[in-house]
Amino acid sequence: MNRDFVYSGSPAHIIFGEGKSALAGEWVEKIGCKKALVLSTSQQQADAEVLAKRLGPLSAGVFAGAVMHTPVDVTEKAMEVVARTGADCVVSLGGGSTTGLGKAIAYRIDLPQIVIPTTYAGSEVTPILGQTEGGRKTTVRHPSILPEVVIYDPALTLGLPLGMSINSGLNAMAHAVEALYAQDRNPISTLMAVEGLHAFKTSLPKIAESPRNIGVRADAIYGAWLCGAVLGTVGMALHHKICHTLGGTFDTPHAETHAIMLPHTAGYNATAVPELLAPVAEIFGGSVGGGLWDFAKEAGAPLALKDLGLSEPDLDRAAEIATENPYWNPRPVDRRSIRDLLQDAWEGNRPA
Ligand code: NAD
Repeated sequence: MNRDFVYSGSPAHIIFGEGKSALAGEWVEKIGCKKALVLSTSQQQADAEVLAKRLGPLSAGVFAGAVMHTPVDVTEKAMEVVARTGADCVVSLGGGSTTGLGKAIAYRIDLPQIVIPTTYAGSEVTPILGQTEGGRKTTVRHPSILPEVVIYDPALTLGLPLGMSINSGLNAMAHAVEALYAQDRNPISTLMAVEGLHAFKTSLPKIAESPRNIGVRADAIYGAWLCGAVLGTVGMALHHKICHTLGGTFDTPHAETHAIMLPHTAGYNATAVPELLAPVAEIFGGSVGGGLWDFAKEAGAPLALKDLGLSEPDLDRAAEIATENPYWNPRPVDRRSIRDLLQDAWEGNRPA
């Protein structure tokens, strides 16, 4: 076991429990703020209005304009509302898109953030912001981006549609799988990653059976926290590079792309670092890639990139971009092998 490592813990306050989103006002005051602007997407505006009402005099109102990929022009509109209302913090209620908007505001004017996640994306515990301008997505990492408080209330995930729950869960699991072989991994990140994978292994199939079971939803959101936390502390590799390429250049949907690619990228890397990915084989059974693919199939996840609107000729360009400027990866990456891997993912083949 490697005892030579650096571990940087997240300074955020993490609160777990059914009904705990009712504590949002208390936390606004605990972090020294007086007026919170509630952020959401338009789809979750009604829930955001309820939350703002519950905040009473601590509310600066609702901005329900969050959308996928955090476009800079939306951030600018939200900043105008912050300035007009005199908000001194934000409460982001929603998935990665809403959290992204809160982070984008914090990155510009260092406004404290309270996040109440309603998906399993994990963005709420990372100091990473992806934003788009003129069709280009750029990523920044900065301490001001990390939210100060996260309230995980499983009751708010009961309405997350089944397909999104499964894809979002697999998206989170991809952070944990890559954390197991990260160059800067440490014993704590590995513990968290393995625990996160266990939490999803037990909860995702049960969500498919009974999506309104609060105990199962609590297990899944616990997994989301663990998987998000490792994404925030160690570096990601081939899997994230390919998903960023597909999402960034071909506009494939975020969580679905992760869900489809995970068995293929994990299987590819398992040949180089079988000992580091042994927990994955143990948890999911059989081989690393095959075990993850079987799990995703049984949970009802999409399995083929061709079903996301990607054409076969797109794969050539995707392999080129994904290998042009590769992230560090435990197995060497070359264009031919990545093109083959993408072909398998496009067809929906089960990896060995
Ligand atoms: P999302 O936030 O885009 O949500 C998708 C849709 O589902 C939205 O319309 C949302 O309002 C709705 N929704 C969310 N929770 C719901 C619920 N409980 N019930 C009903 N509807 C609900 O999806 P996401 O997958 O959470 O986030 C994806 C975005 O997050 C991407 O832009 C991705 O790049 C980003 N992300 C960033 C990081 C990071 O560390 N920076 C990490 C993970 C994801």
